Amino acid sequence: MEKIALVTGSSRGIGRAVARELAHSGWAVCINYHERRDCAEALCKELSDEGCRVMVQQADVRSREQVEAMVAAVRRQFGDVSLLVNNAGISRQGLFQDVSEDLWREMFAVNVDGAFHACQAVLPAMLHQHEGTIVNISSIWGLRGASCEVAYACTKAAIVGLTRSLAMELAPSGIRVNCVAPGVIQTDMLKEVGEEIVPQLQEETPLGRLGTPEDIAHAVAFFADQRSSFVTGQVLTADGGFIL
Ligand code: NAP
Repeated sequence: MEKIALVTGSSRGIGRAVARELAHSGWAVCINYHERRDCAEALCKELSDEGCRVMVQQADVRSREQVEAMVAAVRRQFGDVSLLVNNAGISRQGLFQDVSEDLWREMFAVNVDGAFHACQAVLPAMLHQHEGTIVNISSIWGLRGASCEVAYACTKAAIVGLTRSLAMELAPSGIRVNCVAPGVIQTDMLKEVGEEIVPQLQEETPLGRLGTPEDIAHAVAFFADQRSSFVTGQVLTADGGFIL
């Protein structure tokens, strides 16, 4: 299969670094955004100026129709997606007792349904080719649990379940499914946590620093590469030792 990647939520943060890393490694990359068209187009320009094959596609991962339309657009421009990175995500802080029904559903709609929609949209071609790779982005909070982020932690635990179960189901079809569980990474999402908490989190990280989006992009690149062709169903924690 050709090296054609779709990275959901790649206008900013971790997704942006993943798209850049993959484009630099020879993948044709679809940069997906939800609201920040400006960021997605700036990244697209930067990478195409460097000679990379990139395209931009708006889609709200909560919508099956929009995700299917995005995958069809990638097919028209580059061909069938052979690497899907399910990265788009949102987080919210707050006491469990204050989590509204709407917020709970919203969190699952983006973080879990989004991955469900994207996996189902790319799988027919992967199954046909008997080849393909899916990399999901979970979180250490999905592994360890997180006070005041119960809904978020639940969605990220679901992503681990999705990864392992799908890996078992798809391995006989030659498709690998893996997961990266980032620790505390310097992106806009960290604003949710609150400025006063960030130095505390850094101190709690044994390696003594916050992670960068590139730290996570390198972990994704490992799973994307053929050199990990015997690796499936794994969760790689990239967190500076936070949950050791
Ligand atoms: P971020 O900087 O807030 O970026 C989020 C990205 O997701 C943006 O590109 C955004 O698009 C996109 N997005 C949000 N809702 C979307 C939707 N409905 N449809 C399509 N795209 C949507 O977040 P980040 O820190 O890079 O996080 C990326 C992933 O890593 C998430 O799954 C997150 O849970 C996970 N993670 C982050 C950390 C951390 O410390 N930062 C730690 C563990 C795990 P627009 O810009 O167009 O709105």
